[in-house]
Amino acid sequence: MAYRKNPVGVDELRALAQKRFFDRPGHMGNDLSQLDVQHLFEELEIHQIELEMQNEHLNATRAQLESTLIQNSELYDFAPVGILSLDLEGVITKLNLAGARMLGGERARLLGTRFKLYVREADRPVFDRVVGRTVATGDVQDGELELSANGSLPRHAEIRVAQLPQAQGFQLILVDITRRRQVEDSLRVSEERWKLALEAAGDGVWDWNLQTSEVVFSEPFEALFGFAPGEYGHRIEDWNTRIHPDDRRQVLADIQAHLSGKTPIYSNEHRGLCKDGSWKWVLSRGAVITRTDEGRALRMLGTHSDVTSRKQTEEDLRESNRFQQAVFDSLVAHIVVLDHEGVIVMANTAWRNYALENCKNHGHSGELIGMRYLDVLACITHENAQTLAAASAGLASVMDGRVAQFQLEHPFFTPFDARWFSMKVTSVHDAARRIVVSHEDVTSLKAAELASLTLANVDMLTGALSRRNFLNLADQELARSNRYGLPLMVLMLDLDHFKSINDRFGHAAGDKVLQGFVTTVTDVLRESDLIGRLGGEEFAVLLPNTTMEGGRALAQRIIDSVRDSTVEVGGQRIPYTVSVGAGCLSGENNFAALLAQADAALYRAKESGRDRLEVSLS
Ligand code: GH3
Ligand code: MG
Ligand code: MG
Repeated sequence: MAYRKNPVGVDELRALAQKRFFDRPGHMGNDLSQLDVQHLFEELEIHQIELEMQNEHLNATRAQLESTLIQNSELYDFAPVGILSLDLEGVITKLNLAGARMLGGERARLLGTRFKLYVREADRPVFDRVVGRTVATGDVQDGELELSANGSLPRHAEIRVAQLPQAQGFQLILVDITRRRQVEDSLRVSEERWKLALEAAGDGVWDWNLQTSEVVFSEPFEALFGFAPGEYGHRIEDWNTRIHPDDRRQVLADIQAHLSGKTPIYSNEHRGLCKDGSWKWVLSRGAVITRTDEGRALRMLGTHSDVTSRKQTEEDLRESNRFQQAVFDSLVAHIVVLDHEGVIVMANTAWRNYALENCKNHGHSGELIGMRYLDVLACITHENAQTLAAASAGLASVMDGRVAQFQLEHPFFTPFDARWFSMKVTSVHDAARRIVVSHEDVTSLKAAELASLTLANVDMLTGALSRRNFLNLADQELARSNRYGLPLMVLMLDLDHFKSINDRFGHAAGDKVLQGFVTTVTDVLRESDLIGRLGGEEFAVLLPNTTMEGGRALAQRIIDSVRDSTVEVGGQRIPYTVSVGAGCLSGENNFAALLAQADAALYRAKESGRDRLEVSLS
């Protein structure tokens, strides 16, 4: 806008005023009185001063206006938003520099063109609608559209439309939101990438908006439970209600713990309902990704992974463990598992009960797990040093890996209940280097063994020592007597005319006589003396620590007792006698030699009439 300047300066003004004055029709000319003229000049002077003052004011106002206009135009041009005016046809009548920049052209060239030309074709209806609403409501309306600046990159703009006064057209404000859109896009892309990564890690992703209770379930999530895309639902209830009733409480508790910030991550394993009605074990994990400033959860993202096969494997393992434990416990043998340092880590019921029963008087608590095996063994064997030394050495050899197996050579004895156990130690060869120790109750075997041992050592018919046993023991006694210089006597005894006893009374009666004979002799003998049956009706008696005199007297007592004792068989009394030969130790170190002396003496006793004693001459 141009401004006409006021005529300034008194002279110029005067000239103009004079001209106007003289040009006026019917002006007074020279017909004025001196006083009138004087008055007129005064008036003019005053008027002139008034005009000058008015002029000063106008000048100040104009300067102010000009500076404001400059400011406004700068503001208009350099505003960060595009400001455009359109006429009713949509033609640009005015626009600032930012507006021109957004439309991608020079201001001069853009003026007079239609705004819609610069809107992406697909968004033109958007623009029309915003304008339509502006007209309809008479109020400011807004929307978002893309500007297709020719040549340069498309820009996204937020558009605000208002009507100009007197419906002369529209004013548009354009805000460039390209950068914001890019950020949003990259955010969306990165979120999509994130979800893709989550999908890859798990089987399905869920995205829960806690404000609306809406959940986006990914297609793999739906497929996990056998649902087609979009079939699973979109609400949190669609998930909740498909959790196994036995698991639901824990799932909700775990989610709650995370929502309230107690756990850094939500994680739970539960069964989810499939479309076909079956249950699937899933590992469900997630975390809140958006919270309010006060910490309230707004959005939670998570994954579901199929762990059915793992769960099945775990269940199979548990089942097999239960089976093994049952088998283990059903065994009668005592079985205990030790770690590589000999500490009990496991025991079957039989062993546990037995060890606790045996150890309860030894100040042990009721718990065997964690105790050293050798301590328990010491307890149940009443500190049997031989057993403990052998077991300890055997265990060490298995633990060191020197041998894979070890068996205690002799069964060990448990005095508490007078039982015998064999012990076997076996390495498991597992990573933990565990060792299995088993105790087998061999009490009955041991009893049989002892019995058979007795059988071999004792004569079945008479109870006298067997020939072999007698000779063994006699050898030991001989050695002992020699070592300590003790006297020793040996007697050989042979029943007289035994053949005729058999003949007269029968073989069975003869047996009775043999039994009666041993009983009679034993009654005469001392505790330390031994009687052995050397064969048939031939016996030997060993008298340790006995001198010739003592032996002689004892032998005579035997002969007399036998003669006095009759054996009753079938109501018949059978009398019998015995002949005895005695030998006395005199430096022999061979029992057979001593026996031979006694035998020789016996021969002489028989020769000289029987029922008598003869002593070796040597
Ligand atoms: P002698 O006085 O000379 O010793 O006469 P004897 O009859 O005892 O003679 P001899 O020693 O030759 O005979 C022993 C007999 O003892 C022979 C055998 O039939 C009998 N006899 C041996 N062992 C048994 C046995 O276990 N039971 C019975 N009933 N008889 C036996
Ligand atoms: Mg004989
Ligand atoms: Mg005889």
